[in-house]
Amino acid sequence: MRRLIYLLLLMVVLPWQAQAAGRDTYTVIISLDGLRWDYLDTYDVPFMQQLAREGVKAVMQPSFPSKTFPNHYTLATGLVPDHHGIIANSFWDREGGVEYSLKNPVTRADGKYYGGDPVWLTAKHQGVKTATVFWVGSDVTINGDHPTYWRDYQTQQLDFQGRVDEVLRLLSMPEKDRPHLVMAYFEEPDRSGHSYGPLHRLTRRAMEDVDLLLSMMWTRIQMLPIGSQVNLIITGDHGMTSVDPKRFVNMKELLPARWIERTCNDYPTLIYARAPQYIDSIYNALQGVDHIRAWKRGEVPAYLNYGNNPNAGDVIVLPDVGWLFADKPSKTQGGSHGFDHTAADMQVGFRAIGPDFKVGYEKADRFRNVCVYPLLCYLLGVTPSPNDGSLDEVRDMLR
Ligand code: AMP
Ligand code: ZN
Ligand code: ZN
Repeated sequence: MRRLIYLLLLMVVLPWQAQAAGRDTYTVIISLDGLRWDYLDTYDVPFMQQLAREGVKAVMQPSFPSKTFPNHYTLATGLVPDHHGIIANSFWDREGGVEYSLKNPVTRADGKYYGGDPVWLTAKHQGVKTATVFWVGSDVTINGDHPTYWRDYQTQQLDFQGRVDEVLRLLSMPEKDRPHLVMAYFEEPDRSGHSYGPLHRLTRRAMEDVDLLLSMMWTRIQMLPIGSQVNLIITGDHGMTSVDPKRFVNMKELLPARWIERTCNDYPTLIYARAPQYIDSIYNALQGVDHIRAWKRGEVPAYLNYGNNPNAGDVIVLPDVGWLFADKPSKTQGGSHGFDHTAADMQVGFRAIGPDFKVGYEKADRFRNVCVYPLLCYLLGVTPSPNDGSLDEVRDMLR
């Protein structure tokens, strides 16, 4: 009798499980690096406006620090940087005796730094094919694996138009090979935002060019046989603010070099003391200094969700928005990011359209970017791994 009940249960549960993993929709997520939220309202970007009319318009809050590597990997895993391990674009790994840096091809490609379960693996391990075109971490062997389709970060091999063509190629594969998740990355408008500042006509131009490019991509997607099954999300990693060489706090005047083993980055600056007895000296020397805040590791305010990871510096220094704490002032009057992730200029634009998203819906409150991972898992019909986000925070966008 017990065996019979077990068999009956299996007959009910097994088909349900098969349906649960995977749906007949496809999700394309595009990251535009440095997509400050208000570019989408103030610049001449008709496609982004079309998406707001025909889909969802929202503002997304990045995680701290508002930098490229930490946030792209947060979008992929739903974990804040302190939890996934990519706590900055570069940091000192004391135990390993090496500096992790996005500019160092060896450490950048070392999977041991990339914690959590990126969505391309969550889905792949539940039988859903995934593809990336240059997403941070997707060319790294993480937990021994990669997305179903991926490529090395060689941006010169695939220009922006080439990446759009690649998205279309992936969605045009035979059904048995076709990925249900495609994640693609574009360096603009970040590149122009740094060089010229967020409000410069050339940054506006870069944004408008990308808008046209993505508009053509969406038109081509709509013409595919699966066009009506495709969800499209366009978002980014962080915003951008104007910087000025005059807004500068001189680290050299405040801290003797003999206290410091190494520093990494500037937004925030991670300071690694030469010996434990210097930690207090560094910390004390930075208290009460205008335009910066400094904390010891483990004492960073809770809202920043930062500074418990062992690789964070002994002292973490965060300048006010638009300011720089370093040993020399910035040369340009362009833009930067990495600041307090709750600051207005660091917020990120978000648009979504497709069968799962409401039409003409504007989300009232900004949501945290850790929620993108559970959202993608929902769209793909897969079970998310433990994460810091919540589907409930973004469920109102869904039909
Ligand atoms: P940030 O200093 O935070 O603005 O970093 C942006 C830089 O990260 C850009 O110059 C990109 O070229 C670079 N970048 C973005 N994705 C990757 C990647 N997957 N691998 C290496 N570099 C990347
Ligand atoms: Zn970025
Ligand atoms: Zn940048």
